[in-house]
Parts: sequence; structure tokens; C-alpha cells
Amino acid sequence: MTARKIDYLLLGGGVASATAARVLRTEDQSASIAILCDETLAPYQRPQLTKGFLDGSLDTTQMAIHEAGFYTDLRIELLLGARAALARTCH
Ligand SMILES: Cc1cc2nc3c(=O)[nH]c(=O)nc-3n(C[C@H](O)[C@H](O)[C@H](O)COP(=O)(O)OP(=O)(O)OC[C@H]3O[C@@H](n4cnc5c(N)ncnc54)[C@H](O)[C@@H]3O)c2cc1C
Repeated sequence: MTARKIDYLLLGGGVASATAARVLRTEDQSASIAILCDETLAPYQRPQLTKGFLDGSLDTTQMAIHEAGFYTDLRIELLLGARAALARTCH
């Protein structure tokens, strides 16, 4: 496994990470920012699951927190389908 340095690694792909990433980019233009999430969708509005998605009136693109291109434009890397885990070291 190759180690990488990421200035701000946000765990979880919910509204908290999506908002934090936007604010961090506003505050720091040069930092590397990534969102790591075990889901495979870009951050979406979870309440919409029961307010449109389940009855078929919304699709996943309509549930997105940020429009397509947002993460690319702001250089926020999405690491999807990846689960964070604590590494336990025994001495
Ligand atoms: C069906 C539904 C309806 C809701 N309706 C409302 C409402 O009407 N009004 C309201 O105020 N709130 C509502 N909520 C709650 C609201 O969606 C949450 O408060 C909000 O999503 C919390 O955002 P968050 O970013 O803190 O966490 P979450 O949205 O829970 O996101 C956490 C993310 O972290 C990921 N994750 C967890 N562990 C790991 C790991 N080890 N590695 C990688 N990724 C990980 C998860 O997969 C998820 O993507 C609703 C929630 C649901 C599920």
C-alpha cells in the first residue's frame, strides 16, 4: 500500500462532510481535500430517501447535495466505496 498525504480527509459522505469540504476550500485554496465514504454515491440529501426517492419521484442525481462538477471544480476528491478503519498496533 502506498502512503499519501491529504491535508483534510473528511470521513463519511453526508451533509457534514460535504459542507465542511466546501467551507475548507473557501478558507484554503491550496490544500488537498478528500471525502472518504463507504457509500458509492456522492454526498446526497438523506431526508430525500423518504421524501421522494422511495416513491420514485426523485432519482439520485436530484438528491445530490452539490451539483455535478462541484467536487471537480473545487478540487475535492471523492474516495467512494471505501470504508475507514482504525489500525490497531500491538507492541
Ligand atoms: C430516511 C431519513 C430521513 C431523514 N429525514 C430528516 C428530516 O426530515 N429532517 C432532518 O433534520 N433530518 C432528517 N434525517 C437525518 C439527517 O439525514 C441526518 O441528520 C444527516 O444526514 C446527518 O448528516 P451527517 O453528515 O452528520 O451524517 P450521515 O448523513 O449519517 O453520513 C454519514 C456518512 O458516513 C459514512 N460512513 C460511516 N462510517 C464510515 C466509515 N467507517 N468509513 C467510511 N464512511 C463511513 C456513511 O455511509 C455516510 O455516508 C433523515 C435521515 C434519514 C436516513
